[in-house]
Amino acid sequence: MQFGDLTLTLVNGGNFRLDGGAMHGVVPKTIWSRLVSCDELNRVEYATNCLLVEGRGKRTLIETGNGDKFPARERDIYGIDHDQSVEKNLRALGVEPDSIDHVVMTHLHFDHSGGATRRAAGGGLEPVFKRAQHVIQRGELHDATHPHERNRASYLAENFAPLEQAGLLKLVEGECEFAPGVRVIPTPGHTAHHQSVLIDDGAGHKALFLGDVVPTSLHVKLPFIMAYDLDVVGTLESKRRILGRAIDERWLVIFGHDKDLQAGYLALDAKGNITVAERVSLS
Ligand SMILES: [Zn+2]
Repeated sequence: MQFGDLTLTLVNGGNFRLDGGAMHGVVPKTIWSRLVSCDELNRVEYATNCLLVEGRGKRTLIETGNGDKFPARERDIYGIDHDQSVEKNLRALGVEPDSIDHVVMTHLHFDHSGGATRRAAGGGLEPVFKRAQHVIQRGELHDATHPHERNRASYLAENFAPLEQAGLLKLVEGECEFAPGVRVIPTPGHTAHHQSVLIDDGAGHKALFLGDVVPTSLHVKLPFIMAYDLDVVGTLESKRRILGRAIDERWLVIFGHDKDLQAGYLALDAKGNITVAERVSLS
């Protein structure tokens, strides 16, 4: 879609499946199973939505999806669709990886950073976006490289170590406008240094790529918080703050893992609960 002088295009980085209970935290299955369907293993299918932002002489890619490096066991556990990758889907749109100036990752979990590297012909690993600066929070890299038992399975060095070795990381601290009209803003909770991406069209309109602070349209409800989150109350506060601004200032919000509802405008319903009042397609 056209957003001021910027073009926003949603690119899928590959679907996968996550445990429905883990995705909805304390919300019981009797409630969430009426809102989404799950398979016989209790898994719900999600997209890994990436967003291409073009204009003002720059190309920015937000998120890189799962990538296509998973061994058979993980592919099986997470039902990862290896036929899809952000690289493949960008090429299908006529966008060469070397034409990307910036890659932003909300955090370094594998379903956001997996598509940033690939297996090289010789068997090693290499960055996919060789010209791009990869924008992440300094603290997120620290946490990813010093994992503990609770987050170790989500941080795979193969997704970010090659970027560091190639000198392609742009480490930022807090809010930062890294390209004209495109800035990262801290939204901690899912991880301590999780960031969302705020896009300004230059004419008074803003779009917010939420990342895992609000992974799907169901998660706009304040109590819907993933059990994966390290700091649940931190997520709650980030959601209250950022979604409040999105309603007050009529920001377009974009969901990173929703395979059916990619983006929309929010409002409060009659009970005061946050709801998606208007759906927007970014395909
Ligand atoms: Zn995620």
